[in-house]
Amino acid sequence: MTDLRNSDGSAWHVLADVADRSQRYLDGIGERRVAPSREALAGLAAFDVPLQDRPMSAEQVVEELDRIGSPATMALAGPRFFGFVNSSALPAALAANWLSTAWEQHGGFFVSSPGSTTLEQIALRWTIELLGLPRASTGGFVTGTTVADMTCLAAARYSVLARVGWNADADGLFGAPPITVVVSAETHSTFFKALGFVGLGRNRVVKVPVDSQGRMRADALPAISGPTIVCLQAGNVNTGAFDPFTEVIQHVRASGAPAWVHVDGAFGLWARVAPARAHLTSGVELADSWATDAHKWLNTPYDCGMAIVRDGDALRRSMALNAEYIPSDRANHTDYTPEGSRRPRGVDAWAALRGLGRAGLADLVERTCRLANRFAEAFRAAGFPVLNDVVLNQVLVSFGDAERTRQVIAAIQEDGTCWCGMTVWQGTTAMRVSVISWATTEADVDRSIAAILRIARG
Ligand SMILES: *Cc1c(COP(=O)(O)O)cnc(C)c1O
Repeated sequence: MTDLRNSDGSAWHVLADVADRSQRYLDGIGERRVAPSREALAGLAAFDVPLQDRPMSAEQVVEELDRIGSPATMALAGPRFFGFVNSSALPAALAANWLSTAWEQHGGFFVSSPGSTTLEQIALRWTIELLGLPRASTGGFVTGTTVADMTCLAAARYSVLARVGWNADADGLFGAPPITVVVSAETHSTFFKALGFVGLGRNRVVKVPVDSQGRMRADALPAISGPTIVCLQAGNVNTGAFDPFTEVIQHVRASGAPAWVHVDGAFGLWARVAPARAHLTSGVELADSWATDAHKWLNTPYDCGMAIVRDGDALRRSMALNAEYIPSDRANHTDYTPEGSRRPRGVDAWAALRGLGRAGLADLVERTCRLANRFAEAFRAAGFPVLNDVVLNQVLVSFGDAERTRQVIAAIQEDGTCWCGMTVWQGTTAMRVSVISWATTEADVDRSIAAILRIARG
């Protein structure tokens, strides 16, 4: 076996090297093209070699990774990527991610990772408090909202069936009383994946129509009876709009049915921390479970999602692991999420929250919403219609017919000053601008607006 240590006995010199390279990458990211160049993408072919026989030093591995890989990245970590809803990691969160990776904690059990388990519990509690959710709620860190939705749906499935005398976790869904699943016509695509995964079916849903902003129409809700799961949304991925939580949840509770209300709040739930936006989410705290992403508005590195459940017992019953050799402990993360071994990603969330504080987080949310509005005002002033009410951080703009809008978006992506994606909103092809990175400044927005308008007018 080749010795992986250096001559002085340490194997870790490479960490200083990678810190330097990472810092150079991030320091330069505001001035490079947002999308990688064609040459950089073509350069990826250099990775495609047969695996060699002999070991290579860690320094050489990192040198190759940086030389070929870094130029071929999309500048998600920079200030002018406005595609999808992708934030960039805060310095404290990225640094904590590195340190906790060095700790190599298993993350699943308190007994083998006491420090990181404690930090995850604190980050979860702070988040529950910040988001104004019921204090007794529990939950866990998962990869993202897709898996957080799955986790909450598993608890919901257990709870609504337990209330009619069926143990879904012991006995499965075959032969169980049927569960009615209510979603909206604007439920996020990932949610259907989650429904399919937990056995509720992607298509076996009642879809409630929405209004012009994509909000569920409370007046169009079906009568609720029997075991029912109602799925709402905080932050429509196109418009940023919120479902009318209070009306829907009152309707559900008034039915007296064994029902559960779940909220997909991947990014929108964080509006609760900004005093001027919080009203958009009013009533969301009345739900039974919430899925959200720290890797969206909290600006942690990927991946970091959170599942939060009012009835911790229902969550535990659907997730708990029973093994003789693992000490049972209320703090075992593996009893609250689908995973066994996992990285303790909640440490990144802890660091982001610790670094920002309440005011810093409120400012991050409010500032990005204002910057979205700055985009919208510039588009309107230039005569390009904005298709949504810009209540949050999402802007939809059209540059003409579908063909013209697609051409303009492709040219913007090719130009490299910024990056925005395409969507179709209620039949109209649009460009979607999502402002969610801590690093974005007014100057970045103005520079992006100038590039977009130059292309759109050309
Ligand atoms: C991003 C997003 C998701 C999916 O989250 P992942 O972290 O990618 O799993 C679900 N719903 C909404 C509204 C989102 O914005």
